[in-house]
Amino acid sequence: AHEGILHRQAQRESAARTYARSLPIVPVRARGLTIEGADGRRYLDCLSGAGTLALGHNHPVVLEAIKKVLASGAPLHVLDLATPVKDAFTTELFATLPPGFADDARIQFCGPAGTDAVEAALKLVRTATGRQGMLAFTGAYHGMTAGALAVSGGATDVRVTRLPYPYDYRCPFGAGGGRGAEIAARWTESLLDDPRGGVPAPAGMILEPVQGEGGVIPAPDEWLRRMRTLTADRSIPLIADEVQTGVGRTGRFWAVEHSGIVPDVMIMSKAIGGSLPLAVIVYRSGLDAWQPGAHAGTFRGNQLAMAAGAATLAFVRENRLADRAASLGARMLASLQGLAASHTCIGDVRGRGLMLGVELVDPASVTADRPVPLPDPRLAVAVRRACLERGLIVELGGRDASVVRLLPPLTLTDEQATAVLDRFADALAAAER
Ligand code: PMP
Repeated sequence: AHEGILHRQAQRESAARTYARSLPIVPVRARGLTIEGADGRRYLDCLSGAGTLALGHNHPVVLEAIKKVLASGAPLHVLDLATPVKDAFTTELFATLPPGFADDARIQFCGPAGTDAVEAALKLVRTATGRQGMLAFTGAYHGMTAGALAVSGGATDVRVTRLPYPYDYRCPFGAGGGRGAEIAARWTESLLDDPRGGVPAPAGMILEPVQGEGGVIPAPDEWLRRMRTLTADRSIPLIADEVQTGVGRTGRFWAVEHSGIVPDVMIMSKAIGGSLPLAVIVYRSGLDAWQPGAHAGTFRGNQLAMAAGAATLAFVRENRLADRAASLGARMLASLQGLAASHTCIGDVRGRGLMLGVELVDPASVTADRPVPLPDPRLAVAVRRACLERGLIVELGGRDASVVRLLPPLTLTDEQATAVLDRFADALAAAER
């Protein structure tokens, strides 16, 4: 069955398939960190549905919540009507919002994907401000629909001004040592304040508190506070894309909490649906310039996703899983840094909480003019393959696809973390040869 399914889907599906190309497995069962393939092999899943599975696969509280809705006879499709399930989800979500946000928040159900919520956020601030331009960052990833793509790294759109995101290891200003963030902030300020700078008054600024697909790059807290101040001073709504960083992943319930900033709009998806598709934006009520019907969508009321999501949010909150992600993540980060000390092919180890990245480089590429070695995407592919052979699923990211990303569930045990790190170290040693 395993080979047949892989073969047929490879023939029938689009050439754009991504995960399926690098992970030749046919998952048939899963629980927690573990996925079992049709061939009977078991894997530790540190991709977690691209960061979706805060509680791992098929967590009992999530399954119970879904079963409860199914058993109740409630309608599964309700457009955007109010239901008890939606009420419970919204109440639970609002209870998690950063201080200073919940009292004055509005929610718009989008859906079903993260990229839909990004579109809604861009449209909301454009409607509210009557302006068109957007400020976005190098290396960003916001989704695959036209608006979200336009604000993602590498894309070009006349309405989008690209600003430097602080990436200390490959600092575009050659500064490093954390000073690049200061230069990037000043550059942004001077650009916005120069009447001849060519940046029309923007409708908003969109950023990820930790760039995920861009290579697991946490923004320094001080830089985020600078972005908050400079946007507030110029009446530019600040949009935080917490699609990947939310629900405890980085060690706080929402990643913006590390810096203490309160954005004007938060984009949420992935983990808020407890493994089912769900996406929302939450924003300051003052931005609610939409008329009824201004933003629609057939699949805005997925009852199963809301029930699974409410159960997930409650479980993360009650069990303080954000704290757990912080402490276990720090331990894993330290362990990976230890590995870097004995492997020159590891250029940088980064992360926050259980969002970890290992940037692989070619140490032989260092020259007097180029102290930071070039990325090594081929080694990264080899490491991912070696991980898979050892029963560990990881994914690559970064501007050169040379960063190995680890996004384990927040329910990861100490023993599982050790197993993940051991397999990774073993795979690295094998791939390096
Ligand atoms: N924003 C961020 C920060 C993301 O990481 C992603 C998905 N990786 C998206 C938006 C898009 O979400 P989706 O794939 O559900 O459209």
